[in-house]
Amino acid sequence: MFKWKGVLLASALISGSALASNAMIVRFDLNDSIKEFLRANEFDITGINYKTMEIEALLSQEELNTIQAQKTTIKFSFPQNLAAAPDSRYKNPEEIEDFVKDIHARYPDITELKVIGKTLEGREIHAIKISDNAKSDEQEPAVLYNGMHHAREVMTPEITTDIIDYLTSNYNQKAEVTKWVNDTEIWVIPMFNLDGNNKMWNEDSMWRKNTRNNHGVDINRNYPQGWNSCNGSSSDIGDSDYRGTAPGSEPETQAMMNFVSEIKPVFNISYHSYSEIVIYPYGCKPLQTPTGEAVTEIGAELGKKLDYRPGTAWDLLYNVDGGDIDWMYVQQQVIPYVIEVNSTMQGFHPRYDKWRDKTVLLNRAGWMHLLDRLNGPSLQGRVNLNEYQTVKIYKAGDSLPIQEYKINPDGTYYIIMKQGTYDFSFEGSLSKKFQNITVSSKKNLSF
Ligand SMILES: [Zn+2]
Repeated sequence: MFKWKGVLLASALISGSALASNAMIVRFDLNDSIKEFLRANEFDITGINYKTMEIEALLSQEELNTIQAQKTTIKFSFPQNLAAAPDSRYKNPEEIEDFVKDIHARYPDITELKVIGKTLEGREIHAIKISDNAKSDEQEPAVLYNGMHHAREVMTPEITTDIIDYLTSNYNQKAEVTKWVNDTEIWVIPMFNLDGNNKMWNEDSMWRKNTRNNHGVDINRNYPQGWNSCNGSSSDIGDSDYRGTAPGSEPETQAMMNFVSEIKPVFNISYHSYSEIVIYPYGCKPLQTPTGEAVTEIGAELGKKLDYRPGTAWDLLYNVDGGDIDWMYVQQQVIPYVIEVNSTMQGFHPRYDKWRDKTVLLNRAGWMHLLDRLNGPSLQGRVNLNEYQTVKIYKAGDSLPIQEYKINPDGTYYIIMKQGTYDFSFEGSLSKKFQNITVSSKKNLSF
């Protein structure tokens, strides 16, 4: 397998391009007009750069001709380095499976493996749990990190495998790691779109979707929340953001949904590339998460740590419907982010020697911040689920709640908040109110 991959890459390099589809990355100056034009024509926008104000798309010669015909003065370039085939040191599905099994063999006490479902082609989708007493389901907050909804984004499993490596190898070596692992159930899905990645290595280095009927479905436009609601995906099977025939139609999507419903993570990061941005809900213009919540604030904190620009998808890129983070946020009350690693300077297939370590090292500040933020401003505890099922959260003195939080099936709750003064109302067969509670750090309230 490994050798064959090398042969393929060599032939791709000889022909000067790794693209099976004669498509090429084209770079334009970024402005609203070109952004909307690319989007309106359903072109495959691959990345954006807010530092250099550039936008890139994967286009066929025919598509580029269309653009030139309609926008006669438009300037563009072909960034040659972005056409490079991925270095064979980036991982394929078999290497991911070997990796998680090897980690589990080396650290059996603090890891547990789980197959969360199978892909269309029957590959097992692996998740690894990193926690003390990993075999038991302890009453600890869960955090999820996942990589590669999109097959060509080869840096993303480097980030997720680095998370796994770092946490396991530094347990009982670095105090902060020991604390995170002891106090949290950390889940990582290192590579989600396994079939698509296999196709990326063997057929088309720019492949993005899964492999449904050869045309594929964009798994990250297939989630049921807001599916096909705001022109944030395509109905055309040939488009890179084809949403599928129905909400949640793809086995990969279903696997993620079942898994998230089961572990109920407090935070999630879905790693993508590229654009150096941090995206939070919602995907459809002009929806914003309610004020008073932590989603935007923590998104800005992540942006600051990484020097990536934070915002909603519709603000930073374009409308997205059927994406995972909106589903996680609305249906599972997760605080979820998409982090698009790497810039237009590196593209989908950054030079491994130059960029792999640099990118994973930089991104540690992001995923570590969420583990720390579990101990920041929040209300957490455990109640009797027979007595209380929901918590309504109000800004102190207000009559309308800013959030209605559902207590977890085991009676635990983890409400991550902005600093402030709030009223809380626990409701069920009993009710209990707490007024004028100042939340400036982690507050425990169990009764
Ligand atoms: Zn992506």
